[in-house]
Amino acid sequence: MEQVIVIGAGPCGLSAAIELQRSGFDPLLVEKYNVAHSIYLYPTYLRFFSTPELLEIGGVPFATPNEKPTRQDALQYYRTVAERSGVRIRNYCEVTSISRLPEGGFRLGIESANGNNTPLDTKAVVVATGYFDSPNRLGIPGEDLPKVTHYYKEAHPYAFTDVAVIGGNNSAVDASLDLMRAGARVTMIYRGTPEKQNIKPWVRPIFESMVEKGRLRVLYESQVVRIEPAHIVVRGKDGETFEIGNDFVLALTGFRPDRRMLTDLGVIVDPVTTVPAHDPETMETNVPNLYIAGVIAAGTDANEIFIENGRWHGAAIAAHMSAKRRSAGSD
Ligand code: FAD
Repeated sequence: MEQVIVIGAGPCGLSAAIELQRSGFDPLLVEKYNVAHSIYLYPTYLRFFSTPELLEIGGVPFATPNEKPTRQDALQYYRTVAERSGVRIRNYCEVTSISRLPEGGFRLGIESANGNNTPLDTKAVVVATGYFDSPNRLGIPGEDLPKVTHYYKEAHPYAFTDVAVIGGNNSAVDASLDLMRAGARVTMIYRGTPEKQNIKPWVRPIFESMVEKGRLRVLYESQVVRIEPAHIVVRGKDGETFEIGNDFVLALTGFRPDRRMLTDLGVIVDPVTTVPAHDPETMETNVPNLYIAGVIAAGTDANEIFIENGRWHGAAIAAHMSAKRRSAGSD
């Protein structure tokens, strides 16, 4: 029986495992793919909006000559931290279920790339599975056509094509500018108004100028209602519907955490905010010895927790588990 298993080796899961190790536990970190897989999925040439010190975990300095780290910088940083920490990591191993053991503790069902699917038993669990596996779906006909993606990597394949970018915040704006520079004909379709757009302050003037110059077409207060192989159908501001010729659709509408493993175990999810019931001081859920760390603890607006603040969850968990261990020892 393990003392504690951390599920998910993103920045917050990794941080939780390191903090637990520092507190004298010997955590096992179980990861579906590899360390920092979500960052691996970011656009290839992405630059973080955070400065490096705000992304640091385990007290390890994030050294980079860049004021804002690149995706590559971050991948190297988190790999190095993982390696130097010596935390046990079982990668390419997906946790498929968590159940309670009658004698106390939990049993984790797993599917491992190496074929060893023996369940893992543990006294405590930290769920740090993030949100990148579940994009906010559009829920419209044609969404599953091969020309539609929820993950943008880089512009080159889209050069000289008609691309619809759905969404209007940072990811959609960055992708649109990138695509435009590569020679794609971009139409951004956004439900909100220009005032509602969440755009990095240093990107906004560039974006606005490109829109003004007509190099980027933006349809505000509009929605894509259907995707067909050669066009999309849009409902505009005034309720009218019209077609736009189209080769590719990038649905950059954000992500939401999948909380099924938590709810299956009896964790209560607030029906309005969708936040899983937990004590923010300890990150323990309403199920004793079941903790959450990172963006899985966020509500409807998943962006309220990010690396900058989610990286501290691990320290809270380690402090709480240490206190429990002390009080058990003094019984
Ligand atoms: P994740 O990083 O999503 O990690 C979860 C891990 O769990 C993944 O590795 C996944 O493979 C694994 N996993 C999932 N399910 C299972 C399972 N069943 N079994 C085993 N493993 C599993 N934040 C900032 O602070 N600053 C920034 O500048 C910034 N820029 C961003 C730019 C983009 C384009 C995006 C999309 C996000 C950005 N963020 C930024 C947000 C940040 O990426 C997330 O907040 C952060 O990744 C959350 O960390 P996490 O550890 O909670 O989850």
